[in-house]
Amino acid sequence: MENMNQLRDLLKHEIKDLYSAEEQIIEALPKMIEKANNRELKRALQEHLEVTKKQKGRLDDALEALAEEREEEGKGALGLFKGEQKCLAMEGLVKEGEKLMKEDMSPEVSDAAIIAAAQKIEHYEISSYGTARTYAQELNLDEVEDLLQETLDEEYEADDLLTQLAETRVNERAITESGSTRQRGRSGTRSVSTSGKTSQARSSAVTAKASSSRDSSSGRSRSGGSPSGRTSKSSKSKSSSGRSNSGTRGRSSR
Ligand code: FE
Ligand code: FE
Ligand code: ZN
Ligand code: FE
Repeated sequence: MENMNQLRDLLKHEIKDLYSAEEQIIEALPKMIEKANNRELKRALQEHLEVTKKQKGRLDDALEALAEEREEEGKGALGLFKGEQKCLAMEGLVKEGEKLMKEDMSPEVSDAAIIAAAQKIEHYEISSYGTARTYAQELNLDEVEDLLQETLDEEYEADDLLTQLAETRVNERAITESGSTRQRGRSGTRSVSTSGKTSQARSSAVTAKASSSRDSSSGRSRSGGSPSGRTSKSSKSKSSSGRSNSGTRGRSSR
């Protein structure tokens, strides 16, 4: 009982942290969009800005649901916790990205830098939403869990799209137009595949999850770590297959 209460408090804290993170992203993205040269990159960031605004609203809903479940004063949740807690990690990620974007870079390299900064942001969100989602799951807060899962899926989508852009276009052009040799080109490509590494790690996390998803005791030890509910592109809706209330995608959409 006591432990449950504590985890619930932590969940609330994480939701507030994410709220601050999303607010900061909403502020940062327009500058990144303006800076981006590649048209597809611009469009991807623009779309994610719209998505991010919805995500912020979803966090309001989650906090309200959390309050209602406890029969707390749920009303005015939005106003109450606005600005109450600042995500320092996001502040740092945004600052670092902005600093990098001030460097003197060719348009192509600049785009690569924007993608890198954006992916660091997405990875932070993926980690935080994954953790919060798992807490909600453990606490049987189905509505909160669904809201967080929906956003988590979107963050994965955004990250995947950025990886695609980096691998297929932007970085390649940055390599080519800087006139580097094939060999340098390859090493450049390898550094890009940092994201490739991520998906590798990701799939092994999925495997780990799959092999132990029915072992509820092991869920706890993993909960704070990786966003184990990775919804692989191919089986997004089946992602949380271990759970009965898994079909979160597209459900409580607002
Ligand atoms: Fe977000
Ligand atoms: Fe944070
Ligand atoms: Zn924080
Ligand atoms: Fe995001």
